[in-house]
Amino acid sequence: MTSELQLWFDPSKCLIAGEWVAPVGGQVLPLIDPSTGQDIGAIARGQEADIAAAVAAAEAARHGPWGRLSAAERGRILLTLSRMVAARADDLARIEAIDVGKPLKQARADAVALARYCEFYGGAADKLHGQTIPYMDGYTVYTLREPHGVTGHIVPWNYPMQIIGRSVGAALAAGNTCVLKPAEDACLTALAFADMAKAAGLPDGVLNVVPGLGAEAGAALCAHPGVHHISFTGSVQTGVQVQMAAARNVVPVTLELGGKSPQVVFDDADLEAALPFLVNAGIQNAGQTCSASSRILVQRGVYDRVVAAMAARYQGLQVGSALADLDVGPLISRKQQAIVSGFLDQGQDLQIVGQGQLVNAPNGGNFVRPTLFAGVAPSHALARDEIFGPVQVVIPFDDEDEAVAIANGTDYGLVASIWSRDGARQMRLARKIRAGQVFINNYGAGGGVELPFGGMGKSGHGREKGFEALYGFTVLKTVAAYHG
Ligand code: NAD
Repeated sequence: MTSELQLWFDPSKCLIAGEWVAPVGGQVLPLIDPSTGQDIGAIARGQEADIAAAVAAAEAARHGPWGRLSAAERGRILLTLSRMVAARADDLARIEAIDVGKPLKQARADAVALARYCEFYGGAADKLHGQTIPYMDGYTVYTLREPHGVTGHIVPWNYPMQIIGRSVGAALAAGNTCVLKPAEDACLTALAFADMAKAAGLPDGVLNVVPGLGAEAGAALCAHPGVHHISFTGSVQTGVQVQMAAARNVVPVTLELGGKSPQVVFDDADLEAALPFLVNAGIQNAGQTCSASSRILVQRGVYDRVVAAMAARYQGLQVGSALADLDVGPLISRKQQAIVSGFLDQGQDLQIVGQGQLVNAPNGGNFVRPTLFAGVAPSHALARDEIFGPVQVVIPFDDEDEAVAIANGTDYGLVASIWSRDGARQMRLARKIRAGQVFINNYGAGGGVELPFGGMGKSGHGREKGFEALYGFTVLKTVAAYHG
């Protein structure tokens, strides 16, 4: 392990029932630094037996002290955890930067968001309740919101801390126990978080972490009959497999599968306000963001101005290792670098109007130059498929109807934004555009944890974040009492 990476736990182990244990098979996977390509350690390669142990621990824990805590007591543990995460934000950011290749400032924002999720769900735990229902004379009817039981969480490598915060945080607040399978490419902050949760007073077995490969530990978690709910974030292809596995056990699934999110810029937009968002929303985390804005739709009256301003911003983008903390870091893996390079090859016949510069990019790191294409047809692969790299396309349009048709013209529907000063148009388009979140004259609204988030179409189903996530992590029971 390099001296740059300072861990207080052993990532070649799993955390099961409150104990750090080596995987039953004794196997490990390499820990690769995306900024250098160097092998800097080993992580656990958990498999079916480890998942089985983790599910058993989570099942036991829900019948132990955790199951008897009041909602307020559960909330207090999350609030303590929130303070601990905030206090160690710099340590977590450094670990994440090295593990994911994310520029340090962006990694720190993720750690702060994780603390905020724990704060939000800690505060919400005792505000989640059922309802009374007026019914026939002689009856009192009410609903109870009960935890599912053991929840499985499969997390990708792009935003481990934020995705753990929004799924595990909500699941715990609602009284569930958890088995977390982080991504094989980035599992360190998941282990760090679970260790901190134990120190915050979370009873043993309530949160178990089993790192490992998707096809082994991930598939075993989805297939396990003792899991009562699955939350998955990742690719469409894997999401389909996860849903099929869950269907065999008839358990609910939340799928968050990415997107091809548009920003739609009209002639009457405040361009000064829009321009920073247009590029930043595409290159943050090197474009490896499910809600990345990879399509910029621009009305013809301001098209040349917008393209020129975005191109100038691209020319100034600096690319380098995570700890150099520039605009854009490396991609997560060689595999991802090859996928993004393949898309750039497909754009050879298109007009490249701006590219970032490699300024601190060690040989062996998974770097690509951020690239802006203009004048792209909506039917082109670069305008249709999720690239998951720092690549954006600009697409011209004439009028509102055409803008809506292009915006809705992919399989996805995660996020969209409308830039216009016309209030009626803002309202019309917010209804017509197919997306789980629509932003007006901004993009992302600062990522607020309070804002329900999730997709339409192949972006998935179910909602995380906000109170909606708490409803998703509970099952509703109706009680009808006849008392005459
Ligand atoms: P993936 O879907 O293969 O991996 C995501 C998570 O699922 C990882 O923890 C992985 O171990 C696990 N997994 C893989 N196969 C599994 C299986 N059969 N059963 C259960 N779990 C399994 O994604 P990837 O290969 O890491 O990335 C490929 C593409 O996925 C990217 O190019 C991107 O388009 C998309 N992606 C989207 C998001 C998002 O936030 N929506 C995140 C990461 C990746």
